[in-house]
Amino acid sequence: MGELPPLDLRAPTRLLVLTGAGVSVESGLPAFRGAGGLWDGHRVEDVASPEGFARAPDLVWSFYAARRRAAAAVEPNAAHRALAACETRMRDRFLLVTQNIDGLHMRAGSGRVLELHGSLWRTRCSGCDRPPFADSSEPTATPRCDRCGGALRPDVVWFGEAVDAEADRRTRRFVKDAAQAGERLVFLAVGTSGSVWPASGLVRYAADLGAETWLANLDEADNAGWFDHRVLGPATAVLPALLEV
Ligand SMILES: [Zn+2]
Repeated sequence: MGELPPLDLRAPTRLLVLTGAGVSVESGLPAFRGAGGLWDGHRVEDVASPEGFARAPDLVWSFYAARRRAAAAVEPNAAHRALAACETRMRDRFLLVTQNIDGLHMRAGSGRVLELHGSLWRTRCSGCDRPPFADSSEPTATPRCDRCGGALRPDVVWFGEAVDAEADRRTRRFVKDAAQAGERLVFLAVGTSGSVWPASGLVRYAADLGAETWLANLDEADNAGWFDHRVLGPATAVLPALLEV
């Protein structure tokens, strides 16, 4: 990737980072392959859609139990740690929004994290509106809600479902606040294929409000043309260099 100067992140510059599966791949978690692909031997539609869950909830749960087991067995990497260190320096000038559900950013020490696609480590009820709850169990059959008897499900966003509305709102608020304050905003997307809407459209939103946009990926992303700057390379090498940690 050649010589990479660190980003100028001195105050009052704000930094919005979007991370995708590419960041977790380097911890050893397989990349999500998208609609039409296979995921751990399953058609994605069978294990990551409301229709798939309605058809075969036990299969979906055994799949997510395996995801929990796999995520618990790996460690955050240098990219996760670089982002956590950056947050420590920048505080409220920093925001991380992730498409990942594996919790590795939090385990690396990040606190200002919005999870657009939910969390592997929460469960919610498909039958009532009780709040999602922390859960690291690895069920082999569909657990039932002790309040309504409905099927419990992972608190993750599946195909055909909307991203976390509050996470989306707070992300856009962060961009708008910078624009309204007249402060420089850097938007940095890392390890994201650029194919999953609406996360892939965030770059347009940020650019329209004046952000300087960067993309760091192992391969060229589908929406690479929308960025001002592109860096090809593994996140574990690129992020410590760009963020100077
Ligand atoms: Zn319930």
